[in-house]
Amino acid sequence: MSTPPHVLAWLQQAATNHTPGTIDDPDRLRARIQGAAVTTPLTIKVYGQPAPQGSKKSYGPGRMVESSKKVKPWREDVRAAAEQIVRCTCPDDCGGLAPGYPLDGPLVARMVFTFARPKGHYRTGRNAHLLRDNAPAQPQGTPDLSKLIRSTEDALTSAGAWRDDARVVEYQRAAKVWAGEDPEALDAPGVVIRIWLLEQLTAEPRPVVVPYSATTPPAHTIHQP
Ligand SMILES: [Zn+2]
Repeated sequence: MSTPPHVLAWLQQAATNHTPGTIDDPDRLRARIQGAAVTTPLTIKVYGQPAPQGSKKSYGPGRMVESSKKVKPWREDVRAAAEQIVRCTCPDDCGGLAPGYPLDGPLVARMVFTFARPKGHYRTGRNAHLLRDNAPAQPQGTPDLSKLIRSTEDALTSAGAWRDDARVVEYQRAAKVWAGEDPEALDAPGVVIRIWLLEQLTAEPRPVVVPYSATTPPAHTIHQP
């Protein structure tokens, strides 16, 4: 990840009138901007109605229309929320991305989508605050979780949050939950996205897995010295 020229100029300016040890100390600034340009997890909260990417339907030559009318607002919601975080905040107001973005390299992600429970899940009358026995514990209906991930990933790519959604090598958690009913749920429909650079994800040791070949080598691969 190289430092953009206008940010280097900003650093040089800071170096000419700095106070050692303070926030504008160029050594600290340089470390912040060049070293680990981004400290992950990058956390993005999006409010809006999560929707999948519509499959394109053809209505004759040159007329492709996205079948899901909800998709555009959702992707725009995600994109707007992501841009607020990854946009450059240099004094030049350059309109580009902050140093370190788009995230590049192996990424680990987490996406928890929040939905509002339909009124029909509740009892009536004086028990209107109680759920019916057959109310599902988590949103089991459409949209598909995998399709929500897909449209949200696309929006993150267009916002410049990551280089490409192919960079995601692992999902720690992907879930659909009801508002307020999960530790990671929002209080209204939307999503909480967390993205780590794999190299920075060191808080929890990863499980050691013994390679299959080390425990049970197929007979034809055994070599005696
Ligand atoms: Zn800038």
